[in-house]
Amino acid sequence: MGGLRPQEYHNSIFEIDLDRLRRMGKRAIILDLDNTLVRWNDPTPTPKLLEWLAAVRAHGLMPCIVSNNSGPRVGEFAARAGVPFVPSAAKPRVKGFRQAMRQLGVAPHETVVVGDQLFTDVLGGNRAGAYTILVVPIDRREFIGTRLVRLIERRVLRYLFRQGLLTPK
Ligand SMILES: [Mg+2]
Repeated sequence: MGGLRPQEYHNSIFEIDLDRLRRMGKRAIILDLDNTLVRWNDPTPTPKLLEWLAAVRAHGLMPCIVSNNSGPRVGEFAARAGVPFVPSAAKPRVKGFRQAMRQLGVAPHETVVVGDQLFTDVLGGNRAGAYTILVVPIDRREFIGTRLVRLIERRVLRYLFRQGLLTPK
């Protein structure tokens, strides 16, 4: 179960303590796209998100989007947000996370992975040796396959809460 355990759990990216990440020596923040930064398949970064990304950089953290979604969707969004990206990452495979770390010139222990899914973002981020943060999905609307995985995900979360391995928000 360790691979599915995030180090932190928040209502949204906006609740992440960026000062704390910097004090921990983190230098890069790998971000999931759909339902972490915006709604599923939403092509436009919100002004609030752009502000947050500026704050991330001001804290000495380099952002990078790593998404399982397709190249054009991820590329268009990342260009608007001014953030480097890795599309079609096949998370929880570590390949996409490693590619992002290489691109940013950081080691796993300097890297934070943020996402809304245990079985892709958290599992993959933990496998890649990064510090993982789970956030509540922005919207209930998502890819049909994801909806099925959510059923299992809720059970795993309940288990982690019961065992005291994760604090409910
Ligand atoms: Mg997602």
